Amino acid sequence: MRLLEEFRDPEAAQGLLKSIKNLAQELPTVRLMEVCGTHTVSIFRHGIRGLLPENIRLVSGPGCPVCVTPRAFVDQAICLAQEPDVILVSFGDMIRVPGSSSNLGLERAKGRDVRVSYSPLDALQTARENPGRRVVFLGVGFETTAPAVAATLLRAREEGIGNFWVFGAHKRVVQAMEAVLKAGEVSLDGFMCPPHVSAVIGSHPYRILAESWHMPCVITGFEPLDILQGICMLLGQILRNEHRVELQYRRGVPAQGNTVALKIMEEVFQVEDSLWRGLGIIPKSGLEIRESFSAWDARSCFELEPLEAGDPPGCCCGEVLRGIAEPWDCKLFGVFCTPQKPLGPCMVSGEGACAAYFKYGEQGTRV
Ligand code: SF4
Repeated sequence: MRLLEEFRDPEAAQGLLKSIKNLAQELPTVRLMEVCGTHTVSIFRHGIRGLLPENIRLVSGPGCPVCVTPRAFVDQAICLAQEPDVILVSFGDMIRVPGSSSNLGLERAKGRDVRVSYSPLDALQTARENPGRRVVFLGVGFETTAPAVAATLLRAREEGIGNFWVFGAHKRVVQAMEAVLKAGEVSLDGFMCPPHVSAVIGSHPYRILAESWHMPCVITGFEPLDILQGICMLLGQILRNEHRVELQYRRGVPAQGNTVALKIMEEVFQVEDSLWRGLGIIPKSGLEIRESFSAWDARSCFELEPLEAGDPPGCCCGEVLRGIAEPWDCKLFGVFCTPQKPLGPCMVSGEGACAAYFKYGEQGTRV
């Protein structure tokens, strides 16, 4: 367990923990889901689980974009990388996610042109610099990355760039949170909502969880003190029998979201049903490229086989993403599946629950 002295403001941390302890004394066991993988990592890195009273349990949720991208998408991305003249550009984590029989890193080792980028605009620049090649960007992520991809597609259209495509798998977070509740497999008392997604979508979309599902929601920053305060706010709502959307991360999230980002997302994407790893098809949970941008949509311009790959045998990534299993419940965890040799995406991604549990194990403490 980390020492409180390692927190940026140990006194503030001490005060928040005291408030949490006081609130917890009035409550039965409560289970709070941290939806976002970055929250999971921060919670583990700072040993927050170990600092909480016994009856305050934290459950990891489906908020790692790489983890929820189905294996079939990885297989299709590999097929794209195998196309002649294609340069496949991706965010780094996707490179190591296993497909059915290969991954993009292995394809690169075999000589395919697979490149890592931090921005879709870099991929567009690659297209400008390689007019004789076909450049495909893997657009994986939540509403956090979707605006940058939308802006890139607007730029591609404006400049008339004809050798650039996006192969997209953008997803919407709130719909996945509702799917977890609808499935009814895990008993939850509140949601710690992701701050970066909320900086784009604002706080209003979470109202359905609070109003229709009576679920307390607090949009919480990633710093350890933010997380402690977010937990405090959630416990306060539970104790008062309230269920509303509260904003802990006021310094970064306007209630109405980022209106510029929302506008360009609306121009480029349309809402569709989408397939999630472990959660199946969730209605209205995907952002598909609109017909008006089909000239830059890899799905319209490349022949992609409809692949139906499930998870590898023994892998519990689906259960981990739904909050009904912890990584160490998976028989493969730490033995056959490690960050060096991952079998499932939850062990690959820096935001994956399995990678966080593996790295910080002890100080995370078992729920
Ligand atoms: Fe999936 Fe590996 Fe985690 Fe098991 S340990 S759930 S195989 S990522």
